[in-house]
Amino acid sequence: KLSNRLAAVASFVEEGAVVADIGSDHAYLPCYLIRSGKIAQAVAGEVAKGPFDSAVRNVRREGLSDAVTVRLADGLFAIEAQDAVDTVTIAGMGGPLIATILENGKDRLQEVKRIIAQPNIYAKAVREWAVANGWKIIDEHILKEDGKIYEIIVLEKGTAQYDDLEMTVGPFLLASRADVFLEKWERESSEWKRVLDSLEKAEATDAIYQKKEQLKMQIELVGKV
Ligand code: SAM
Repeated sequence: KLSNRLAAVASFVEEGAVVADIGSDHAYLPCYLIRSGKIAQAVAGEVAKGPFDSAVRNVRREGLSDAVTVRLADGLFAIEAQDAVDTVTIAGMGGPLIATILENGKDRLQEVKRIIAQPNIYAKAVREWAVANGWKIIDEHILKEDGKIYEIIVLEKGTAQYDDLEMTVGPFLLASRADVFLEKWERESSEWKRVLDSLEKAEATDAIYQKKEQLKMQIELVGKV
């Protein structure tokens, strides 16, 4: 059974899409999308040999080799022009790594209409990359599974402006103020307060002063959610 996290990512894939799942590991997400009948073709990209091998094995075991092409490649270089990929999913990595992968391979995004990103940490990096590269946020989702909280960001081409709070916590998530969302920012804030408290006891160097000011600003910002 697919995790709730990946099922939530899958829910943002449109019917009939051609999907490239980047950092696919076991290729669970593309296999699920094909099996469910939602899509007919997918690419599973993996940069590491071990996960690539398990993706190949899994796709074969499920009898989906005609529908899911598994490629050993770095990031978006798994996408080839003849694939006609229109949707990219990229899940289970840190926001900064997702942003780097999108940045390094952005030439491969010309025909792509939708990016569905699920950063495990620091989703702000994905929002910053989007705004700087002609993508706008069209939806977001947040969920908790096994005690962990996950954010999903859906991007399409276009321009939009977000303020500092929206970039940090997500404009759609901020507007909906779901319980899990409030819990996430309470958690983050109490962690920052804990660090701040311990820094209060540390020697007052310039670097520590800077760090404390930064933490205070973050705490104040997310205090507004
Ligand atoms: N997407 C799956 C999920 O959400 O469950 C797997 C997440 S797993 C934690 C991250 C995967 O991304 C690993 O298999 C790793 O090898 C792969 N990865 C990391 N950097 C990558 C890159 N530049 N290009 C392709 N895959 C990458």
